[in-house]
Amino acid sequence: MLDDASWLVNPPLIASGIIVFLTGIVLSLTGLLAFWILAVAGLGMTVWGVFGEKREEIVPENPGMKFCWYCLREIPVDAEVCGYCGIKQGLLEKP
Ligand SMILES: [Zn+2]
Repeated sequence: MLDDASWLVNPPLIASGIIVFLTGIVLSLTGLLAFWILAVAGLGMTVWGVFGEKREEIVPENPGMKFCWYCLREIPVDAEVCGYCGIKQGLLEKP
């Protein structure tokens, strides 16, 4: 008796259950995917931070010097005007 559906006590409920079940699987897969993306990204950033080339800090060799904000050449700290490009200094000075 293949067409005997008497065991289907509440077919709509079963259909809803299947939909909820499938939704749960999709959500868990999405969550898993997000987890792996975050895990791989975090691992990659860590590896990059450990093995990546260190960025050289740009510091004037002479403590009495600073960089021109425009042409980035070393000029005396108290220079008001860059001796190379003639741009007035102090425009981008830190407050
Ligand atoms: Zn300059």
